[in-house]
Amino acid sequence: MGEFSTPGKLLGTEEEFAVGDGVYSEEGRLHALCTGYALIDGQKVVSVKPSNAVPKMVAPGMVVYGRVEDIFEPIALVKIIPVEQSGVRQTQGDYFSVLHVSNIKRDYVESVRSEVHVGDIIKAVVSEIRRGELYLDMRSQDCGVVKAYCSMCRNPLYLKDRILVCHYCGNREGRKLSKEYSNIER
Ligand SMILES: [Zn+2]
Repeated sequence: MGEFSTPGKLLGTEEEFAVGDGVYSEEGRLHALCTGYALIDGQKVVSVKPSNAVPKMVAPGMVVYGRVEDIFEPIALVKIIPVEQSGVRQTQGDYFSVLHVSNIKRDYVESVRSEVHVGDIIKAVVSEIRRGELYLDMRSQDCGVVKAYCSMCRNPLYLKDRILVCHYCGNREGRKLSKEYSNIER
């Protein structure tokens, strides 16, 4: 059983290890792609064995809500928020999923942080479940940030003329918004 890792965790460099399953390389640094245990085999291949058992209720195509817990470019780590559906809890316990920068908007997005911030609540579609890891897609109009907080003072941001405004400190911010955002600000 290796060291417990969450997506984005730095595991080493390409000089030390080769890239195995559940690992990605960015500028020569190796990071965990999923939640699980990092293992290094005899060939110096580092891999992360997923520890998450995907909840039975979750399947590709399902709409989920989640809270952005952390951002490690080019991915955001999103904790799924359990939602009651016909009296059945969608997920139980803490379940993490991955939002990659390429799945935020239909347009090119340079960095995750330009469109979502830690603490935001997002609506997304489960795009795939691969090696026990759940991947999200929020490119559709319906999906995106449904509630956001000021990055200066942490108060809720209000949508006004398609710009998010903080009523406390006057800060203005941008996000990839869901069309649901206006419903929640009231
Ligand atoms: Zn503020």
